Amino acid sequence: MNKLAICPGSFDPITNGHLDIIKRGANIFDNVVVVIFNNSAKTSLFSVEERINLIKEATKDMKNVSVDVSDDLLINYAKEKKASVILRGLRAVSDFEYEMQITSMNRRLAKDVETFFVMTNNQYSFLSSSIVKEVAKYQGKVTGLVPEIVEAALKEKYD
Ligand code: ADP
Repeated sequence: MNKLAICPGSFDPITNGHLDIIKRGANIFDNVVVVIFNNSAKTSLFSVEERINLIKEATKDMKNVSVDVSDDLLINYAKEKKASVILRGLRAVSDFEYEMQITSMNRRLAKDVETFFVMTNNQYSFLSSSIVKEVAKYQGKVTGLVPEIVEAALKEKYD
């Protein structure tokens, strides 16, 4: 059976930390769908369309990776797509409590969808979309932390 993994998040914007997780997932599972969940509690810098385009461009060499968007509950989306895995990244201990809460709830809602954690590469353990935006806002250099296309898009936003 084809193993489909969903990699959910805000991706506002996609960073090299996200890409690292996606790439490693793509080496394990048959297909990975990066899904932008439109979380109304968060205000975003990039529109959904912009985020889709940035993810598509950044993952264009990964043939089994595609992009989607949803405003459904993650676990409903996973069931509808018959996904077997939810792929998440773990950076630091601070991620753990939040992830455990979500994972426990998702398991309660759907026992056959497994959440799979990939420990981040050390060089990205401090990296988040928020910190990248904060640095870029004040014209700090984010080279090496985000794909080049994202770096250019951030420059355009904050110019
Ligand atoms: P969310 O708002 O759901 O946390 P994000 O876009 O911030 O969405 O993150 C999506 C996923 O990517 C999460 O599993 C998060 O832990 C993971 N992630 C984010 N940044 C990194 C990083 N630097 N290294 C590894 N995983 C990361």
